Order: sequence, then C-alpha cells, then structure tokens
Amino acid sequence: MRLILLGPPGAGKGTQATSIATEFNIPHISTGDIFRYNIKEGTELGKKAKSFMDQGLLVPDEVVVEIVEDRIKQEDCEKGFLLDGFPRTVPQAVALDEVMNKMGVSLDKVINIQVDKNILVERAVGRRICKGCSATYHIQFNPSATEGICDKCGGNLYQRDDDNEATVTTRIDVYLNETLPLIEYYENKDKLTVIDGQQHIDKVFEDIVNVLRSEK
Ligand SMILES: [Zn+2]
Repeated sequence: MRLILLGPPGAGKGTQATSIATEFNIPHISTGDIFRYNIKEGTELGKKAKSFMDQGLLVPDEVVVEIVEDRIKQEDCEKGFLLDGFPRTVPQAVALDEVMNKMGVSLDKVINIQVDKNILVERAVGRRICKGCSATYHIQFNPSATEGICDKCGGNLYQRDDDNEATVTTRIDVYLNETLPLIEYYENKDKLTVIDGQQHIDKVFEDIVNVLRSEK
C-alpha cells in the first residue's frame, strides 16, 4: 500500500499517520523527519539540503525529491509506505510519479483529511500547553480539571504565541492555497479520497481504514 496523507495544520494528520502505519504495517515517512535525519547524519543529501537552508533559501524540489526517493527505495518500503508532508506542490507530485514509475510501482491512494477552516482556527486558538510536561489541552474540547493547571504534573498551562487567530488563519490559508492544485492533480488521476476530519478521531481512522481495505 503506497499512500500519501494530506491535511491542513490541526486536522490531526500526525495521529492518523501513526495509526495507519501501524494498521497496515508500512513505514510512516514524515519528510520533516527524513530531512532532519539526513542533516544530522551528514549524508551527501543532507549536506546538499543544508547548503540551501544555511543561505536562508528553500530547498529546491530536485533535492527534496532525491531525499524522498532515497528513502522509499529502502528495503522497509518494499511493501509500501505512507508519505506525510510530501508532495507539497504539483511539480513534486509529478516528480514522485516519475520516481515510482522507474521503480515499477504506483500510488494507491491519496487521503485528504478535510476540516472546515473555522473549526481549525477554533482548535488551534483554544489549545493550551503545559510548561512542565508539554501535555496539550483545549479550553473547550479537552479542558484540564482546574483552569490553567496541568492535570498530570500541576504545571501552568500557556498558549503558544503563534496560536492566535490571525496567525492561525494565515497558516491555514497558506496551506490551502498551496495544496489546492495538488488536490486537483490527484483528483484528476482518480487517486483522491476525502475523509471528514471533523468527526471523532477514532471515527476518522475507521473511515480511512474502510477506504483502504476496500481498495485491496
Ligand atoms: Zn504538565
């Protein structure tokens, strides 16, 4: 099973990615993680990526694609993988198709976890984090027993600076504008499945599993 997981910040993509990877026994490939790994280990690709980042430049698509290609060619990806955080743009998606063609494999599904913008904003703005243990709460959906105090360690809860309404709205708009062409690209290839991310987290996962099981 070769999958791509898409979803705006706050849609619960990370949690679902972990669950999907476990359920289908495929590696969860987070592009952020493989970038950090290559840079930390000082691989050739890592050095290449770092030379752009050190200059404050975006890492060009060809380097990003090379890093992903290198990862999905590893042995643990033989039976499939779940890509998270890549592709971000249509040129990257085209490049990924080319890489997979050369490997003689193809993409099974692109799962897009959809959540309305106002709900994403509400989720982010209400988020509170513990200064002591980093546990997360939500003033409305998952409040601590005592306001402002962590249930687990008694630490003070705070709101991250970038979890204010204006910043969150911008973050989501940037994501939506960036990924819209990508979503159309996979829609045209008949690969896209939209999952309602506004349901309970367990139900979201159940829907994803049902879609993927019926695929096989
Ligand atoms: Zn705590």
